[in-house]
Amino acid sequence: MPKGKPAGVRCIQLDEQNACLLFGKPERPPVCGQFAPEAAVCGKSDGEAMATLIDLEQLTA
Ligand code: SF4
Repeated sequence: MPKGKPAGVRCIQLDEQNACLLFGKPERPPVCGQFAPEAAVCGKSDGEAMATLIDLEQLTA
């Protein structure tokens, strides 16, 4: 996304299965590659991950 992904906005690079369309490509933002998935953030489902992300965005707003 040209100016970065705003909080609360779905990344335009996610496909219908929530997979990154830029994964493995040089144009993927460095910050995305620096994030290491872990259970505390990702949870056990898309829904758990989304709830955690919303909480973190609100805590850091
Ligand atoms: S890894 Fe980065 S570019 Fe890919 S979908 Fe997630 S936020 Fe978007």
